[in-house]
Amino acid sequence: MSNLQQALYYAHQNRNRFLEDLVEVLKIPSISTDAIYNQEVQRAAEWMADHLKGLGMANVEIMPTDGGHPVVYGDLIHKPGAPTVLVYGHYDVQPVDPIELWESGPFEPQVRGDLLYARGSSDMKGQALATFHAIEALMRGGGELPINVKFLLEGEEEIGSKNLEPFLRKHADRFKADVSLNPDAGMMGENLPTITYGLRGLAYFEIHVTGPKADLHSGLYGGAVHNPAQVLAELIARMHDKRGRITLPGFYDSVRPISKKERADFARLPNDDAHYLQETGVPALWGEKGYISAERTGARPTLEVNGLLSGWTGPGSKTVLPAKAMAKISCRLVPDQTDSEVEKQLVQFMKENAPETVKWEVKKLTSSPFAIADLNNPGVKAMNDAMESAWGVRPLYRREGGSIGAVAMLQQICGVESVLVGMGLPSDNVHSPNEHLHLPTWYKGIDAFIHFFNNLARI
Ligand SMILES: [Zn+2]
Repeated sequence: MSNLQQALYYAHQNRNRFLEDLVEVLKIPSISTDAIYNQEVQRAAEWMADHLKGLGMANVEIMPTDGGHPVVYGDLIHKPGAPTVLVYGHYDVQPVDPIELWESGPFEPQVRGDLLYARGSSDMKGQALATFHAIEALMRGGGELPINVKFLLEGEEEIGSKNLEPFLRKHADRFKADVSLNPDAGMMGENLPTITYGLRGLAYFEIHVTGPKADLHSGLYGGAVHNPAQVLAELIARMHDKRGRITLPGFYDSVRPISKKERADFARLPNDDAHYLQETGVPALWGEKGYISAERTGARPTLEVNGLLSGWTGPGSKTVLPAKAMAKISCRLVPDQTDSEVEKQLVQFMKENAPETVKWEVKKLTSSPFAIADLNNPGVKAMNDAMESAWGVRPLYRREGGSIGAVAMLQQICGVESVLVGMGLPSDNVHSPNEHLHLPTWYKGIDAFIHFFNNLARI
């Protein structure tokens, strides 16, 4: 048997023990958002550190962040010339409410049929441990780990990775690698292995429109004073044209077109327009003409009204002409847009379109950059072939609408591109009651990671 075959054989022989390991860490309620659980989050960090040591990792350390939950680090840099993979994971979990909807305790893991039920089973202790198990199989079954590896396990993913950026800036050198494996994404369905290669960025604003110095009586002043709510509504209406395109000046100038090959991959995805109709319950879909929904949500920019505030919205009637109106507006950004350029475009739009009857202000609240992996990156190629070996089908390639903090931070601060995958299924109830992990998919994922590390060594 080759080393690879021996590693796979080892992984298959040890499936029960791998599962027992996972059950053990799933018993720790490492809920990062609630300070009551701080000690449990710490305990999960210690569990991870102990396991990295047990795996034979060197330099294992629980590294404090500035006031937040720690980062667990460990590495094995033992093969000069071989590529170094940075394995990203998080050991924190979401809260469990509403607890009464759980059929078994969220921190009392239970196997029912093919499914392992527990908070964190799919998001993402299961996926993090799959990387441990793949490495163990290569080292103990296959005889050696053919690549170098570093681990970055954070405890604040579920609360927006808020301390990770300053932490990475401080320790950028330590986390340099040739590629990062991030198994915090998922698959689009059973037997549909998926590589997520792009994430949209975000730019979030408030627009404040102010008219009279106080709310006015609409009987006394209505007709003579421009209503800020009407002004704001008209401005918002003008932000899209009839083709569903955004009208901020220059908005599409730096948008990277979708290549022919990418469009062919988008067309293969199972989330077709019928799926969006069914998932959302809307009577008809809407969006930029010339693109399918998967492209509209993954690879095209958007401008969305997230909230509106003006005038009287309580019960009954009040004949008010409001003094002000406010809208929360956010844009999902795609390569190569930046939040600062979109901010300028929004301000320019207001200058060109807001009437002189009101005052206005644009405030930027938050932003996060887009992330995209080069499809020719050796890590993507290694993962493509690994998934094909484990599942027997070519993986799907998708770009996601949301953003994952660590991916953009690693790209920007450490210059490391992420290969974003996972074994979570859309039906896993992540962030919801009865979260579970589909064990047959998890075992295939361990095999895929064994192939991935092995493939990388050959590139
Ligand atoms: Zn996660």
